Amino acid sequence: MLELQYRMPNEANALTAKTGADASPSAASVPAKVGFVSLGCPKNLVDSEVMMGLLQQAGAELTARAEDADVIVVNTCSFIESAQQESVSTILEMVRRKTDGRARKVVVAGCLVERFRDEIRKNIPEVDSVVGTGELEKILEATGIGTSTDKSPFRILSSRPEGDARVAQGRFSRENWDGATAGLPNYLYDETTPRVLATPRHVAYLKIAEGCDHPCTFCIIPQLRGKFRSRRFESVIAEAQRLAQEGVREITLIGQDTTCYGEDLGLHDGLPLLLERLAAIEELRWVRFLYAYPNKITGRLLETIAAHDKICSYVDVPLQHASPAVLKRMKRGGGADIFLRSLEKMRRTIPDLILRTTFIVGFPGETEKEFEELCEFATQAEFDWMGAFGYSDQEGAGAFGLERKLPAREIEKRRKHLMGIQQKISRRKKKALIGREFDLLLEGASEETDLLLEGRTSMHAPEIDGKVFVNEVPEGLEPVAGEFYRCQILESHDYDLVARIV
Ligand code: SF4
Repeated sequence: MLELQYRMPNEANALTAKTGADASPSAASVPAKVGFVSLGCPKNLVDSEVMMGLLQQAGAELTARAEDADVIVVNTCSFIESAQQESVSTILEMVRRKTDGRARKVVVAGCLVERFRDEIRKNIPEVDSVVGTGELEKILEATGIGTSTDKSPFRILSSRPEGDARVAQGRFSRENWDGATAGLPNYLYDETTPRVLATPRHVAYLKIAEGCDHPCTFCIIPQLRGKFRSRRFESVIAEAQRLAQEGVREITLIGQDTTCYGEDLGLHDGLPLLLERLAAIEELRWVRFLYAYPNKITGRLLETIAAHDKICSYVDVPLQHASPAVLKRMKRGGGADIFLRSLEKMRRTIPDLILRTTFIVGFPGETEKEFEELCEFATQAEFDWMGAFGYSDQEGAGAFGLERKLPAREIEKRRKHLMGIQQKISRRKKKALIGREFDLLLEGASEETDLLLEGRTSMHAPEIDGKVFVNEVPEGLEPVAGEFYRCQILESHDYDLVARIV
């Protein structure tokens, strides 16, 4: 569970908070205190930041302590079963604060609402309101803090032919879901939307697109988030410029598929064009994007990364599997040979490229041989970072009806085996970094021990990759969180590094 530690409101916002509050549970002149619990991925985190921005603008006071909150918002995840369980237990924990604590209202937002809207209301009656992923501005009514405009300026009407075709194929259908009653989400914030960042001052996520048109059979995100749609190009640039002026030095572009960016707007090479413009923003030091779709990584994109120092030499491409037969059942295509050629081209174009991927292990019908193909591929590909999920059955996903489901124990055994392979690769790769120097973005005191500082190099995306612990700083230097320092790697572990500031 991530309870948000957002930045404190600036003076102008604080003034709004004093004059605009109309939802205090006890007195009209006292602003309601709202606490957020944000679960799931960075895309969900940005939604939480937008809802916090809308609430703050309407006069709410935000609190990072759930026990101080009059209203608690739980922004949920519904990606896989374990995420759903975590969401439900967090909701139950928060509704207990209505009887045991100060909370007067609990609002549930996010992906779980898109999947189980009616069930949440029926089975947890203590929940006061629900807000889906496509109706973020409704958070104002849901919390009782304000009123959203009927004519939301944020509706996106464009789409890709692929999205329209998938609609016709029933990709976005929620008919088999009892609890999902609302239409498909069609919301996307823009540069005028208020947003309160929950990340450290020097870093920010920037959502450039929402939804997904791909047909992957293990995934229900398209039904939860709607058709793929991009933010306007200039809207992204304007927000990045504002963030940079406010002190953000690292921007991470996110979306379900960032490599499709702009296709619905009629833009060719949308992502490379966007990266080039972002790289020209003086105050920014690092720009990266996550969640590339394998066959959407073009030569133009790779050349753009290679040509700009500020664009991190980092590609996150979730491949999901390497056996052509499994990938076909996943409705993704590709296979080990194609992927290896593609990775080789990426490494040839971008010197010192850092590659991250994610795999799903134990997909229905995955034979021993197909799993071995995956292991062999992981061994040959030598990713710098790798994540592995066990397959999780999702009603409404294409794979739900497939036969030959694997037992949970076997799935976990395979997942651990694959991670064991990656552990050795990672250990070797990290060891090879000893003695080399890198720019380090200092993040502050280590979460693990007060004796160390910690930070990241451009090889490390925020929150998902390993860390660099700093155990030595030059005499007289007072290191400051959010600043960049040159560091030399002294030690390596399986995933983390130890460095000194030089
Ligand atoms: S690309 Fe596939 S896995 Fe990723 S969000 Fe879209 S449907 Fe899901």
